This record gives sequence, C-alpha cells and structure tokens, in this order.
Amino acid sequence: MKRKTKIVATLGPAIDSLDSVRQMVGAGMNVARFNFSHGTPEDHARRHEWVRTASSEAGVAVATMQDIQGPKIRVGTFPGGSVMLEQGAEATLEPGEGEGGDSTICIAYLEYVDLEPGSAVLLADGMIRLEVVSIVGGVARVRVVGGGELFDHKGAAFPGSDTGVPVITDKDTVDLAIGREIGFDLIAASFISSGADIREIREHVGYLPIIAKIESTVGYRNLDDILTEADGAMVARGDLGVELNLESVPRAQHEILQQTNRAGKITITATEMLESMITNPRPTRAEVTDVYRSVLDGTDAVMLSAETAIGAHPIDAVRMMDVISREAEQSPEFVTTPHSAMLLDRSPYASAVAQAAVETANRLRVGTIVAFTESGTTARLLSKHRPRADVYAFTPHDATYRLMALFGCITPLRTPIHRSTDEMLTFAEEYLLEHGIAVTGDTTVMVAGIPPNLQASTNLMKVHRVGSATGGTPKH
Ligand code: PGA
Ligand code: MN
Repeated sequence: MKRKTKIVATLGPAIDSLDSVRQMVGAGMNVARFNFSHGTPEDHARRHEWVRTASSEAGVAVATMQDIQGPKIRVGTFPGGSVMLEQGAEATLEPGEGEGGDSTICIAYLEYVDLEPGSAVLLADGMIRLEVVSIVGGVARVRVVGGGELFDHKGAAFPGSDTGVPVITDKDTVDLAIGREIGFDLIAASFISSGADIREIREHVGYLPIIAKIESTVGYRNLDDILTEADGAMVARGDLGVELNLESVPRAQHEILQQTNRAGKITITATEMLESMITNPRPTRAEVTDVYRSVLDGTDAVMLSAETAIGAHPIDAVRMMDVISREAEQSPEFVTTPHSAMLLDRSPYASAVAQAAVETANRLRVGTIVAFTESGTTARLLSKHRPRADVYAFTPHDATYRLMALFGCITPLRTPIHRSTDEMLTFAEEYLLEHGIAVTGDTTVMVAGIPPNLQASTNLMKVHRVGSATGGTPKH
C-alpha cells in the first residue's frame, strides 16, 4: 500500500547539498517547506532548485511551500541583551522594536493591540506572563505575574485581545516577490485571523493555493470564515500553544482538522512532532504517539520543522514519519469513510462522483482508484473521502501534479493530453500494467470529467476491468 499521510519537511542549513535533498525525497518527503523567517533568498533559491532536480530524477512529485513570517510580534532589545523581570514588578510597554530597560519593554505593533486593564501579555513562548494594570494616555502599565529573564527579540502574544495588526508586513511583501521569482507551488501564511486576510494575500500570489496557519485564538475562532477563502489550514501548534493554554492544544488540533476536512480542504499538523530528533537519533515514545494520533485525527500531512531544518538527523526524522504514518494507517481506527455525507464544495457534481467512487471502491474491495484531473479538485475530493484504495491521480498540468503531493491518499502522476475517454482509459491501463500495480482482469474504479481537457466537472465514475480497454481478456 502507498502511504496515505503526506510528509512536509522544512529545509534549512541541515540540508546543504543536492545529495541531501535526494535523500529526503528518497526517505519520503512530499512537500518541502521554505521558512522565510530564516535564511537568505539565495539559500532558498538554491534549495528550491535542488528539490526540482531531485524530484524529477526520482520521478516523484514534490511540492514546494513558501512559509511567510507574517506579523510575528516580538519584543525589542535590552542593554546587555536581556532584562530580569521579577515577579510583582511593574513595567511600561512601548510600541516598536527599540531598546527597553529595567522597567520598559518595547513591543512591535503594540499600537494595533486593543489592551485593557486585566489583559494578559505573554512573552518568550509564554515563559513570562504580564498583566495590564492600567492604561493612561495610551500607555500600558503591566505587572509581572510570571517572571524570568527576557532576551532580545523574543515573541510576544496577547491572548484574548483583538489585534488589528496588518497580515502582510513589509518583509512579507518583499519575500512574496522573491517567492514569485523562485516559483513556489503554494504559500503558507502565518497568523491568519480572517478570510479577509487571505484575500489580501491572494492579491500578491494570484492563483497559488494558500494554507492558513492557525496560530492565534482569533484565527481559531474565525476558522469558518478563513476556510471560505483559504485552500487549507495548518495546525501551527507552536504559536497556538502560546495563545491557548497548552492543555487546550489537542482539542484545538482535533477541531481544526475536522472542520477543515469537512470543508473539503487540505490539513497539515505542525510543530514539535519529533522535536527530540533535533539532537537524538530516535524520537521519544510520546512523540511517536503524537504523530500516530495526528494521523488518526484526520490530518492530510504531518510536518517537520527544526528536526529537518537544523537537526542532526533530518533523513531519519523523515523515515520515522514514514513508518509511524504507515502503522497508524493500518489501525482499525484510521478513518476510511467520508468525513461528511457530501462535502460542502463549490463542485457538487465532482463531490458526489468522488464520494460514489470511494464508496464503490471500498464496497468492492478494489485496491486501485484512477482519477483524471485538470485542476486537482477531483483528487482533493477523493482524498477527503479517505479511500482505502490507492489513488493514482493523472494530470497533464505541472502545477496540479506537484500540488497533489500534499493531498492525503493521492499519488500524483503525469499524463499527456487525451482527446477521448477511451484514450484516457487505455493510457491508465497501460500504466497500471507496466508498473505492476494491476494485472489483467483486476477491477479498478476510474473517475474523470468528460469530455477531456475542458475543465469539465468530474462527472464520470466507471467500474473498470483492467484489460477490457486494451483488448486483453476480462475474467467475465
Ligand atoms: P512557525 O509556525 O514555525 O513559522 O512559527 C508554526 C507554529 O507556530 O507552530
Ligand atoms: Mn508560528
């Protein structure tokens, strides 16, 4: 069986040659993530080129995802690089990333945050907690509720407060222009809080798919609105874990995955999945359990961040994701039924046909579904119904071919442009036979939009005996 769960791996300094990218692809990386919070444009461009090379050498689809930093809110600097904040002490907050002092903390974008007395301010991944005691003349005074040493440029979060921070920073605008040059396949956008945020980003990226990183309480609350515009959602557990109580993260993950799957969109679960592998060759039992449970939770993809970007064992981390995912997919708990009776999608015909195809394949215990897709919508819908069968999705378009690498349960393949349904069937049969995926007489379920090449909505589902299109002898 093909692995159904997809692996997203972040490329960074630990991946420093074409050969290391080849190994990542060989180990099972389906999507390469480029984290624009780090690295130079040249670093990203070079690695992107390696991914394209390694992917075409191996004949395996690999999508490339540009992750833009967004309005990550950080504190400024301190004389000597840090300040000790004692429990019970008071301090003043100032907007900007300038230099603070013993009782002044500078915070970027502070002017956009709607603070009130009682509001919480979390610094350094929640290690330091402040509470607003008063706002006088627009200046916030805070008391240290949980103290500690605060270092330059640490993150800041305002759980529960409305932040009108612009979703695209000047850095993002520059990075998106660089990204267009490099030619990424999709965008992951940080700190998304509404559908309007996605619309704004779309003005910069055109028709590229956008994954909304859900990493704030506002984003979590507005997920429905976000999903009307975004192509998928990432459970960004790092920053989400700062904004929510840590113990609320598992439930948030479950709900984000369910809601996004029900909307027929792509899901990614991210951050600290195999964290200890940054230094250790083996993960902890808890990490293995987390990856396994995330697969059962319904995620399309599991993601590696520092493990592969700066870790000591990037290839082993991908291999680990591969074996854990496969094991979870064998579990009776792995969902092989539709997430909903009918996906709420803009393509009701395609949705109904996709569901019929998956149900038919499941009922007949057919091991192979073949799909022809132009935009990838058919493949995405099939994917959301979590078929037991392996799905081979043929497309004549490069962008669709690569994007489908992120779709759970889907194996993307290239096909020439066909003039008729018969030609499509013949092509698929030859592929299945040549690659030993099926033998003459096997049953497959085929899905297509006909007539071909017209971006026709998926409207055809055929239970097909391999060999009956190419003149072979069917069993009955
Ligand atoms: P980041 O996003 O790694 O870009 O911060 C993921 C997260 O916050 O979990
Ligand atoms: Mn984040």
